[in-house]
Amino acid sequence: MYWIDSHCHLADPRLSDQLAQIMSRARQCGLRGFLQGGIGPEDWLRQERLQKTYPEIISCFGLHPYWVVDHTSSECDGALDILATKLHLSAGIGEMGLDFRSHFSKDSHERQLDCFEKQIDLAKMCQRPMVLHLVRAFDQAVRVFEMHGVPASGGMVHSFNGASTEAQVYLDLGLHLSVGGPLLRSNSARLRQALQIIPIEKILLETDSPDQPPPSHQDTFNEPSTLLAVADAVAKIKGLSKIEVLNQCTKNLAKLFSLPLKPSVRS
Ligand SMILES: [Zn+2]
Repeated sequence: MYWIDSHCHLADPRLSDQLAQIMSRARQCGLRGFLQGGIGPEDWLRQERLQKTYPEIISCFGLHPYWVVDHTSSECDGALDILATKLHLSAGIGEMGLDFRSHFSKDSHERQLDCFEKQIDLAKMCQRPMVLHLVRAFDQAVRVFEMHGVPASGGMVHSFNGASTEAQVYLDLGLHLSVGGPLLRSNSARLRQALQIIPIEKILLETDSPDQPPPSHQDTFNEPSTLLAVADAVAKIKGLSKIEVLNQCTKNLAKLFSLPLKPSVRS
């Protein structure tokens, strides 16, 4: 058994000059796997290169809603064609989904929906679990799943930060819910309440490094070593030990993404 950060972006250029130290701190915490969230073709290549240095980096390729917002429909279609040829190298597909926050132009909504639906089809075809980025688009995302169905390979809602009613809908769709840094903020009462109804077998732990830092890393980049604090917060809510939560959530992720489990690392 070893522990995995279910979602991070270690190929992010912002981390490149400090990655060796970040990986060493993560190893000292007992982390031995890092599932990536894919952004677009440039990021997929960076992940492939990084994996040669750090084999514990687990590639995941997908077209992120941010990338979709910044590119034309034909550029998105071109990227999806490349994605289809690379999914055999990827543990899952994503991040993919919808981000309807107001700072993204409404003109992008249709393109985001189109890329989301096409990636659902790819997930079905390649039998890859989905890494979902769903922000301010709960109703629209549920409608898409009602129309297209959830792929049998399932998926995870990354950085889930919603209410228990939303958690229940995602659970009913068969999805896992991944929680991270926002759980450690002072305004996390709603998420803490939601976690009470989510079975431990459906919970995943993530950092989303270098983004979404917990208060301890507010003035710097987030990094996978903060996963232990997330595990501790979940443990207190679920009445379990931190190690039990880390073990169970890693098992959940390994099962969902068909990852091997190695002997336990004690901390
Ligand atoms: Zn992400």
